[in-house]
Amino acid sequence: MIDYQKLADLPSVDGLLKHDRIEKLVVDSPKKVKATIQDILKSYREAYLSGEITELPREEEIINQILKQQEEKNEYSLKEVINATGTIVHTNLGRSPLSLKVKEQLEKSAFSYTNLEYNLETGERGSRYQHLEEVVKKLTGAEDVVVVNNNAAAVMLALSTLIPQKEVLISRGELVEIGGSFRIPEVIELSGGVIREVGTTNKTHLKDYEKGINEETGAIMKVHTSNYRVIGFTESPSIEELADLAHKNNLPIINDLGSGLLIDMQSFGLPYEPTIQESLKQGCDVVMFSGDKLLGGPQVGVIIGKKEYIEPMKSNQLLRALRVDKLTLSALEATLNLYLEPEIALKEIPTLSMISKTYEVCLEEAKGLELSLRQAELPIIIERITEKSQVGGGSYPEYQLPTELVGIKSETISVNQLAMLLRGLEKPIIPRIKNDRIWFDVRTLNQKEREMIVCELKKILDV
Ligand SMILES: *Cc1c(COP(=O)(O)O)cnc(C)c1O
Repeated sequence: MIDYQKLADLPSVDGLLKHDRIEKLVVDSPKKVKATIQDILKSYREAYLSGEITELPREEEIINQILKQQEEKNEYSLKEVINATGTIVHTNLGRSPLSLKVKEQLEKSAFSYTNLEYNLETGERGSRYQHLEEVVKKLTGAEDVVVVNNNAAAVMLALSTLIPQKEVLISRGELVEIGGSFRIPEVIELSGGVIREVGTTNKTHLKDYEKGINEETGAIMKVHTSNYRVIGFTESPSIEELADLAHKNNLPIINDLGSGLLIDMQSFGLPYEPTIQESLKQGCDVVMFSGDKLLGGPQVGVIIGKKEYIEPMKSNQLLRALRVDKLTLSALEATLNLYLEPEIALKEIPTLSMISKTYEVCLEEAKGLELSLRQAELPIIIERITEKSQVGGGSYPEYQLPTELVGIKSETISVNQLAMLLRGLEKPIIPRIKNDRIWFDVRTLNQKEREMIVCELKKILDV
C-alpha cells in the first residue's frame, strides 16, 4: 500500500538547504548541493512508489547521504598517491615529485603577476628564458638556454631549427625508442630533418661518420641510449672525436642526453652516466635533457649550448607551441637553484635523495614498518625480503638499487582485492604485487607515508 502522506512528509529541498549541517556546503557550491538533494529525494520517491522500499528515510539519514555524496563529488581526478613500488622516476606516477623547497617560489608565481616576459631593468619586453640564463651558466657553463614542454619537444625544436630539410648523421645503434612513444627516427622526421644512419647496431666507427658527411649534412647527433645497452662487441667514437669531426666540417654536434644528470652519482655506488657539464666540455654544441627524470624537477625539455645555435630556436614559430608556462619555469628555476649547493640538492630533491638512500637506511625503515604492522595485530602474514628498486624513467637500465621490502598477505581477502582497496583510498597506495603478496618498497616512501600505510591497513583489515 502506498501511503502518500509518507511521501509528503519527506523533507523539502528548501528545508534541507537551510539545515545547519548543509548550510555550509551551500555557501561554496549552491547549485551542486541543490542538484544533489533533488537527486536523492527523487530516487527515494521513485523507490517508494515502485515498491522497492516500504519505509522512507528519516531526515538525519538523508542529510548524511547528501554530505557523503557531496564529498565524493568534490574528489579530484588527479590526486596525490603513495608510491610504494620503489621505482623512483615512475612515469605512470608522474616521474619526479618536486622538492618542497620549490613550493614557496611556485606559490609566489602562481598567485601573482610576474616578470615572466618583462625586463625589470629596461622596462621593456623580456624573454621568458632569461630567468634561467644565469643559473644554467653557473651550473653548466652553457652560453644560452631555452625550455620546452619535454625532451621530445626539445629534440623537435632543435632539429627543426638547425637542420630543416637537411641530413642528420646518427649511429644505427642510437635510433632508439624511449618510453613507448618517443621514437628518435619519427621525431627527426617530424621535425623536417632527414635521417642518415651510419655504422651498424653494435659498432659505429669515426670513419662511418666521416663517410656519411656530404653537402646535405646539417648536424651530427648523439642520442644517449638511456633505456638500454648494447653489450658485448660494441664500439663508437668518443664524443670528443665526433665533436672534432663536426667542427672541422662546420657542423654542430647535438647530444640528446635524456636524463639530465648534474651531479655524478658514482659516489653513491651507481654506474657511470654522462653529466650535462661533461657533455658540453666534450665539445657538444647543443645538449638537451628532461627536467623530470634524474634532474628531479618539473616536466620540461631543457636545451642548452652555444648562443649561435640556441638563439635561432627562440625565434622558431614552433617554440610558440612548445613553450612552458610560468609555473613550470618557476619550479625549474627553483630546482636548478638547489644544485648550486650539491649537498643541499642531494638532500632536498626527492629524486636524488631516494636514489642516494643507502641499503642500510632502507633496511632500518623496512624493519620499522614491519614492526608497526606486527604491533597492529592485523589478520595478515608479514614478511620482509631484500630486493632491488629501479631508478625508472629509462635511466640506469642495467643497474638496480638494493632495497628492503615488507610484504603482506591478508588471511581474509585476496591480494587483488586488497590492492584494489589500497588504490581506492582517498590517497591511494600503489604497492608492488608479486608472488601473491602486496609489497611495500621503502625506497620511495617517507616516514609519514609509512605511517599512513599502517594506519590505512588497520582501517581496511581490522574488523
Ligand atoms: C626520456 C628520453 C627522451 C624523452 O624525454 P621526455 O622528457 O619524456 O619527452 C628523449 N631522449 C632520451 C635519450 C630520453 O632518455
